[in-house]
Amino acid sequence: MRIVCVFAHQDDEMRCLGTLQRFREAGHEISFVCVTQGDKGLAFDPSADRGLAASVRDAEMRSVAASFAADYRCLGREDGFLYDDAALRRDLIRTLREQRAELVFTHWTSDYNSDHVVTARAVIDAALFTSLSSFEPASPPLERVPRIFHVYPGDGYGFEATHFVQLTPAHVTVKAELIRRHRSQMDVMRRLRGRDYADEIADEDRRQGARLMVAHAEAFRACLAERRIPWPSDLPSAIPDQV
Ligand SMILES: [Zn+2]
Repeated sequence: MRIVCVFAHQDDEMRCLGTLQRFREAGHEISFVCVTQGDKGLAFDPSADRGLAASVRDAEMRSVAASFAADYRCLGREDGFLYDDAALRRDLIRTLREQRAELVFTHWTSDYNSDHVVTARAVIDAALFTSLSSFEPASPPLERVPRIFHVYPGDGYGFEATHFVQLTPAHVTVKAELIRRHRSQMDVMRRLRGRDYADEIADEDRRQGARLMVAHAEAFRACLAERRIPWPSDLPSAIPDQV
């Protein structure tokens, strides 16, 4: 299966990095797409220009993608100022086709960051047209519309998880190491909250796992829009000796 992660920023994939490890172990192909350049990401350094921030985040994202032998592409939009428009829809239709997307992970449709919300909506809308050759006719259509899962956005956004993927301690360890490759963002989070994203996400995975009586899990919500609804078998199943 071809799995495509479409997120607004370089680090947003942290919500599904355990599940991606399980997909990779099972031989599935993974690719990453970031809609913005993350060019405001050196958030407390007024001397850092947008180009520098974008290049730092590009290098960090490429490091994570390399660990999955994954393609990475950036659609180049300005960080913090993403709006849904015709060009974005065209870009996403072409990109999902070029990546031969079968299963897509993206943001939830309500979130603390407007770039995330715009990305989620734009992905849902673009996916529908990937199989119709009248849209972007220069790019070959997909045989069928990719199915979509939304990642957990944090509490307070009306997200009720419908699917969970169990992680082993080894997945959790690798996940933390991958998250910390976004070193610039760990620095931002330490300044904002006194701890980094890897610690926060590990707590979250324990909380989700507790709901299933396992040590760690990631939570997802199936997209319910017609033709984008995932199959029950799309996510990795329980790990027998971890139940
Ligand atoms: Zn983000």
